[in-house]
Amino acid sequence: MIDLKRDDKGNLKNATGLNSQKWRCYKPGQEKDFSVSRSRFEDFSKCPRCFYLRMVKCLQQPEGPPFRLNELTDTLLKKEFDECRKNKKSHRKLIEKGLDHIIPFDGGTEILTNSKNEKKEWQVIDIWRDARSKGIKSRFKDTNIILQGGVDDVWFNTKTKELIIVDYKSQASNEDVSQDTYFQKWHHDGYKTQLNFYAYIMKNMKLEFDISKDSYLYVVNGLELEEGFNSQIKFSETLIHHKIETDYLEDKIQKMIDTMNSTKTPKGHESCKNCAYARQRSIIDKL
Ligand code: SF4
Repeated sequence: MIDLKRDDKGNLKNATGLNSQKWRCYKPGQEKDFSVSRSRFEDFSKCPRCFYLRMVKCLQQPEGPPFRLNELTDTLLKKEFDECRKNKKSHRKLIEKGLDHIIPFDGGTEILTNSKNEKKEWQVIDIWRDARSKGIKSRFKDTNIILQGGVDDVWFNTKTKELIIVDYKSQASNEDVSQDTYFQKWHHDGYKTQLNFYAYIMKNMKLEFDISKDSYLYVVNGLELEEGFNSQIKFSETLIHHKIETDYLEDKIQKMIDTMNSTKTPKGHESCKNCAYARQRSIIDKL
């Protein structure tokens, strides 16, 4: 895709292909703490080379436009669940599924100080949701790597007194969304890693409550209606359950850290269209 670099006002800027924010890049062997997000961990799982080029060589990848419609459904769902949180009530979908003992988690508030030394009171759930500046985070073993992420929601099992990790997902498909088929789709596999990764971080945050083995995706699916658009889109809503597994993660995270501390750039992925394109492109550019 064609992605032109622009500033906040939409003016064109010179694209260098490098990240100008050097603090976002890692120096092999560095001792200073460094945060690695869930998305970067997933990059590593897909292609260690691309991960390395971005994290260590500081290359800036072209990025597509933000998914504003998905962001909107997330925002609306957050509002709906926050209302239940405020009233300490379960949600209509959970009640429908016989899970009315599960309620959105209310962790109270915390006072945080920003970079201008201003103090502000935050709802704990909003801190955990804000992946960019706060979010959930914990150190990986005794390394300098801080694992970080932002959850969409956390629910509370009032019977077991456990915290449940939740992510909202928006999609548009003519196929029904169901527990039986959802994870058969290869592109949904990463969602399991996402939930596992968040659970791993939160387990190490030493919170008051344990992290449940149950986690959920709240999937909203845009439907193609016979009657047409008429200024509205209808969605089906499905709760997809995932059993948390974190045992395999430590090994993978350690491999990721070893890669970051190496001076050798890993090999790329044979099936990657982007690298194939770049190879062909470099042949033409040399002519
Ligand atoms: S194979 Fe793909 S993902 Fe890996 S470095 Fe090349 S462009 Fe990146």
